[in-house]
Amino acid sequence: MILIQRIPGFKKKFFHETINYLWQMQVDYIVVGLGLAGLAFTQELEKNNKSFIVFEDNSQNSSLVAGGMYNPVILKRFSPVWNAIPQLKKALPFYRMMEEKFNRKYDYKIDIYRIFKSVEEQNNWFVSADKSKLSPFMDTKIINKKFNGVISKSGFGRITETGRIDTISLLRDYKNYLNVEEKLIQESFNYAQLNISKEKVSYKKYSAKKVVFCEGFGIRQNPFFSDLPLTGTKGELITVHAPSLNINFLIKAAVFVLPLGDNYYRVGATFNWTDKTLNPTIEGKEELVSKLKTVINIPFEVVEQKGGIRPTVKDRRPLVGKHPKYRNLAVLNGLGTRGVMIAPTVAEQLYNHLEKDKELDNEIAIERFL
Ligand SMILES: Cc1cc2nc3c(=O)[nH]c(=O)nc-3n(C[C@H](O)[C@H](O)[C@H](O)COP(=O)(O)OP(=O)(O)OC[C@H]3O[C@@H](n4cnc5c(N)ncnc54)[C@H](O)[C@@H]3O)c2cc1C
Repeated sequence: MILIQRIPGFKKKFFHETINYLWQMQVDYIVVGLGLAGLAFTQELEKNNKSFIVFEDNSQNSSLVAGGMYNPVILKRFSPVWNAIPQLKKALPFYRMMEEKFNRKYDYKIDIYRIFKSVEEQNNWFVSADKSKLSPFMDTKIINKKFNGVISKSGFGRITETGRIDTISLLRDYKNYLNVEEKLIQESFNYAQLNISKEKVSYKKYSAKKVVFCEGFGIRQNPFFSDLPLTGTKGELITVHAPSLNINFLIKAAVFVLPLGDNYYRVGATFNWTDKTLNPTIEGKEELVSKLKTVINIPFEVVEQKGGIRPTVKDRRPLVGKHPKYRNLAVLNGLGTRGVMIAPTVAEQLYNHLEKDKELDNEIAIERFL
């Protein structure tokens, strides 16, 4: 047994601080939350050889219930998604890199077929497809083919370069990997136990240079960042089995219908701005079923239902940056309805901001609300 004695003349406070420091595990970063934001940020840390520990308590699940789609076109108005082209340029290699890391497929390329409600919508489609930000993705040929069980009077417009990330498998594999590496603590981060000084933070047995909070809607409980205007929008999805529906593209109409294989389809999603619980509701299911009946007219059975809160912000832009007073605390949040595409870009921007003092884009910096 090692006996540590206080050297006479050594100040008691300094002695205790030294002993604490020796006991503590030193890391560069503590990361709170392991959804898409936490995953993308810890990947930045790994890439740059920074040490870290992650806390995850399964209190939120947006990344796990997400449809996982990436799509550069807003399908209601046929307009470009904010910064879609640069975001896709970063996101697609990011998910490829994850596929290589774990030797598993996560990125499933799939076209989107938008059902036209009218000839007028077809005309709007052509106007948009001519625009430089949209032309790489919008096919100018109208698809008039009939598909068994799919209701369409005015045909479909096809969007390409789109796909689905299997976020469940990706996050499961990444959690297993962090577990093996002893970098994942499966418990709630308790803000009251965080000690902050100018140079470092300490939390239980960890001492870190910085903490990055990637808590999704959980930020509402975080006393350091709860003032940020993250409203949260609940979304529900159902999975249906439709034995005679045989499509290998995603249909977008009143709902999206995403093929999962073996005649299973994910159908979503609802938008609810008042209910902040994660549990699936009867109203959510009824809404999705009745909308699905306007898209397909063949039998189906609901086999699963899920709910989660999208971390949405009133101006629909991410929330990124350092705490105004505690400069070694930072936030990566507000990925809204498009975390798959946005997360890798904003994680890199936050890393460069924290480590290289690079300015954040005004559009994502939390300073816009301070
Ligand atoms: C129904 C639905 C469908 C969606 N479809 C799509 C889609 O098709 N494409 C797309 O791009 N996006 C989609 N989204 C949005 C997408 O899910 C989000 O943008 C993204 O997943 C948010 O990731 P996040 O890491 O910020 O949050 P989350 O995924 O919520 O992760 C936050 C994590 O932090 C943890 N946490 C929180 N507080 C603490 C604490 N104190 N201690 C420890 N851990 C904590 C939580 O448990 C959670 O794991 C959808 C969302 C929903 C709800």
